[in-house]
Amino acid sequence: MSDQIVISGIRGIGHHGVFEHERADGQEFSVDVCLDVSTTTAAGTDDLDDTVHYGLVANAVHALIVGEPVDLIETLAERVADACLSFPGVSRVAVTVHKPPVDDLAAVDGIEITAVSAVFETAPVGGPDQEAYLNAVVIGRTVLDDISLLAATQLVEQGWHRVREVRWGPRTLDVDILAIDDEVIATEDLVVPHPRAHERGFVLVPWIDVDPEAVISGRGRVDDLLAAVDLTGVWPASVVLLIPDRGGAH
Ligand code: ATP
Ligand code: MG
Ligand code: MG
Repeated sequence: MSDQIVISGIRGIGHHGVFEHERADGQEFSVDVCLDVSTTTAAGTDDLDDTVHYGLVANAVHALIVGEPVDLIETLAERVADACLSFPGVSRVAVTVHKPPVDDLAAVDGIEITAVSAVFETAPVGGPDQEAYLNAVVIGRTVLDDISLLAATQLVEQGWHRVREVRWGPRTLDVDILAIDDEVIATEDLVVPHPRAHERGFVLVPWIDVDPEAVISGRGRVDDLLAAVDLTGVWPASVVLLIPDRGGAH
């Protein structure tokens, strides 16, 4: 019998990349692995030693993230795959390496990122059936005017090859401007505060994480707003899932 073990959000500061600032400063990397594992014995004995110990896999992956720098994230992904396959019982592995888009924002001339929330995993709301989103809120300072700031966020989205096929459907990256101090803007291209931020758990939860005193102009304190929203499906990321193969014979 073969099960899939998904370990997502294994994070660490790595120095991978071809740019000098990437090598010098390092940045956070996040790795997901999906392992095909033979679990026949473990299912019978309930003994952790008989299956792949996902804690050890996560440690091995983490060691590669923070270890010897490589130029390309593809190389890091290959090393992660090799490490996973060296665990007995692992027959196949799929690896995804993420670099946080916040580094792209911080690299924009005129934008300084001052704080980043934890990452939260959220079940999709209002769109088609799809995998969970990852959400975070960042706080920064900028000398850019509002429209240049919007343009900068859209360039970062494009850098992630964002294409939008369905409204509120899956996309590689969505950068929204939640607030600009206590400014109120209502133009065709830009509405600030973001008109739906106050009613979204996936926005308010990371926002309160990065700034417990946050206030949305015209709406109130984020902690008060949070009390009124449905938080079902909003989880801290780094969730480990064990998905049993229900088709297999026991
Ligand atoms: P939602 O706004 O409900 O989160 P979305 O983020 O998926 O939906 P997009 O497709 O990313 O929507 O954006 C559509 C348009 O929204 C953009 O072209 C942009 O001009 C406009 N927009 C208005 N206000 C904002 C804002 N505060 N932040 C980002 N985009 C905004
Ligand atoms: Mg959005
Ligand atoms: Mg958007």
